[in-house]
Amino acid sequence: MVEYFMRFPNFKTRAVTLSYDDGTVFDREMVSILNKYGMKCTFNLNSNLLDRSRYVSKEEVNSLYKGHEVAVHTFTHKHLHSLSSGGVALQIIKDRELLESITGNIVKGMAYPFGLSDDSIIDTVRACGINYSRTTSSTLDFSLPKDFLRWNPTCYHAHEKTDELIEEFFEKEDIDHPWRVRPKVFYMYGHSYEFENNFDRLEDLCKKLAGKESVWYATNGEIFDYVTEYKRLDFSLKGEIVHNPTATDIYTLANGKNLLIPAGKTLRIEE
Ligand SMILES: [Zn+2]
Repeated sequence: MVEYFMRFPNFKTRAVTLSYDDGTVFDREMVSILNKYGMKCTFNLNSNLLDRSRYVSKEEVNSLYKGHEVAVHTFTHKHLHSLSSGGVALQIIKDRELLESITGNIVKGMAYPFGLSDDSIIDTVRACGINYSRTTSSTLDFSLPKDFLRWNPTCYHAHEKTDELIEEFFEKEDIDHPWRVRPKVFYMYGHSYEFENNFDRLEDLCKKLAGKESVWYATNGEIFDYVTEYKRLDFSLKGEIVHNPTATDIYTLANGKNLLIPAGKTLRIEE
């Protein structure tokens, strides 16, 4: 039988993604630093707060966040567990609708305001067509979420273990036993205004995370899409036939060797 292990695009084994909330004017400096280092971020915006003082303007959303992702953070940043299900839906749908009309894109990601969610909120989030949503529960590890609507990040940028975790993330991989190398994600979150008097700290974090050959720098949405598409691969019982029904090239380790399964193609490989 053929054993398959997921790889990220271009056979990368690590992904780095960021999620920053609220859309304050400090996003401008943050984006310019991220762009300098080639880092990707999902920016979660409360569209009713746009154009107010301290917040970015609707007009600049598309140019400011170009190359990054814009996602929902609810319309007015309410505590969702204090609202009825209808109220939660309204907060999500109004934000999603306005962000879609501003960006001209499908907006399908979210971060929970105040990080707060429960089963009933998650049911509503799903019903609003949101595919993934970030909590504020740090895992302090590099695992992919079992449920993307409960996407627990690795850490808050100001967590006392952040630097230690980055070092651990880049520890040498066991290249003699490639099947032991599981794809891992370093997922950091926060607010750009927390760097207000210390953007050097953001630059320091970027220097540690950016420019690594083994890393796929991706938005939350790009990671969700790829992992979801990987799960759509079809296999014969013994795995010697594999079909990729998606429009995305999929990268795997098959029987210990890198194998690219091009979009829409069926491959037959030796057991
Ligand atoms: Zn927030």
